[in-house]
Amino acid sequence: MEFSSNTLTIHEEGNLFYTTFPSFDRTGKVHHAFSTRRGGMSQGFYASLNLGFKRGDDAQTVMRNFQRMSQATGIYCGDMVFSDQVHGDRILYVDQQYRGSGILKQPMLEQVDGLITDKKHVALVTFHADCVPLFFLDPVREVIGLAHAGWKGTLKKIGASMVRRMQEDHGCVPADILVGIGPSIGPCCFEVGEDVYRPFREAFPAQAGSLLLPAATEDKRYLDLWQANEAALLEAGITQAHITVTDLCTKCHPDYYFSHRFAGSRRGTQAAFLELY
Ligand SMILES: [Zn+2]
Repeated sequence: MEFSSNTLTIHEEGNLFYTTFPSFDRTGKVHHAFSTRRGGMSQGFYASLNLGFKRGDDAQTVMRNFQRMSQATGIYCGDMVFSDQVHGDRILYVDQQYRGSGILKQPMLEQVDGLITDKKHVALVTFHADCVPLFFLDPVREVIGLAHAGWKGTLKKIGASMVRRMQEDHGCVPADILVGIGPSIGPCCFEVGEDVYRPFREAFPAQAGSLLLPAATEDKRYLDLWQANEAALLEAGITQAHITVTDLCTKCHPDYYFSHRFAGSRRGTQAAFLELY
């Protein structure tokens, strides 16, 4: 399938590809990116831009891949703070003391799927290979958040939790906040069983008709995680015009993205990056 997008900007630098959200770029307040698998040094099923240190790939090679993303995005590796994702909805505030956590020093975070900061040069990093990356920016209060939303985090409405934290802890007004829903598995490919679609029907009663579409077999449905996240964000007070939704499905583009549904556990990992500067 052709690699193009109507909603995201695709950056191509040599053999390196990544995407950004035009609404975030326009503010001039953040460095951000969602990586692809193109432009790194890893071999085999990690080829080539694997950004997961925990997947059995050579650590020095993964570090080189981060350096490559660093050069492209302007985000220093030493400023990065890695999440520790467990498909939960815990969000942690991080500041300068966390810089380098998970990349240049021992991980300081445990069981955290969402990160938030109001400090410059603290780069939030989450990891994805089908699961939805949610980017948040309040350009008025200068607060950012980044979250990992697989189906479990989406069901727990981690995006709405992030909005609430930005409001309660940092005085953000939801109408000011920009959100980007990044490349991940699309409604075209995310077939789920009753154990997944039933709780979604209960959690999103008003949208269930469009979130869940018929699949080839009677007991399955296609689940639209993008729309579910969008619905939770609208409910939390985010303005429709401030939400950018990806049109890039990770499973539809195996040449550009690692996809768990496509490759199982024999794969690398993408990363999402977001930093105030
Ligand atoms: Zn797809």
